[in-house]
Amino acid sequence: MDLNKVLALTGLFHQGSLSHLLSGTCELCLESADLSGFLCTPCRTALAASEHACSQCAEPLAHPGRCARCQQQPPAFDYAYSSYLYQPPLSDWLLHAKDQGQLQWLKRLAWLMQHRPVTTLDAVDGLVPVPSSARRLLYRGFNPAQLLAASLARHWHLPLHSKAIMKHSSEDQRKLSATQRRRNQNHSFSAGQQLFRGEHLLIIDDVITTGATANAVARLLKQQGAGIVGVWSMCRTPAKSTQHTS
Ligand SMILES: [Zn+2]
Ligand SMILES: [Zn+2]
Repeated sequence: MDLNKVLALTGLFHQGSLSHLLSGTCELCLESADLSGFLCTPCRTALAASEHACSQCAEPLAHPGRCARCQQQPPAFDYAYSSYLYQPPLSDWLLHAKDQGQLQWLKRLAWLMQHRPVTTLDAVDGLVPVPSSARRLLYRGFNPAQLLAASLARHWHLPLHSKAIMKHSSEDQRKLSATQRRRNQNHSFSAGQQLFRGEHLLIIDDVITTGATANAVARLLKQQGAGIVGVWSMCRTPAKSTQHTS
């Protein structure tokens, strides 16, 4: 039986790191995998990240600094960081995990996030996964951001605030325009029961596309008393303007 199937079936997602698993072959070049268990070190270090990104919203930029949009209309979160760019093979792996329910891929992706962490972790008081609506949770069976955040919280011994924010709408954001997303996001989240007292919180998501989701969640967290709110996503899609000019 395929090792991945065995791991998925036995629920190993919730047990510690990947390093105890059998080392296999690299998914990309078929050489021996390193401690990740599924990639060799050269392939892993070659996974694309933004060379420069906006210090506030993590949008890939040609130069270091803050993007024009953040300077004109700053989002509610204070900073954002993405470990990788949303492009193959990472985008394919994420779709395996999200749309085909291949949970072993989420575990691998959490491992990849741990190996390119946000630099503020020492100052962070807790992690907040971007929530799924109850309907989507029922349909998919799991919330990818929640599983990534749970893995990261365990790794860094940080509190996980899974119920700080609630999500109502189950509209598929991928089908909406950027403007529609922003409008929709403002109405689809609400504060949970939790209140904060100036904590530094880190929102965890799988992909930042427009930053609209993170913005809506961060605004609520600050209304609930958070002092600093950052965002750490596994991947970031380049903005359209950047794609045209780069
Ligand atoms: Zn390789
Ligand atoms: Zn920005």
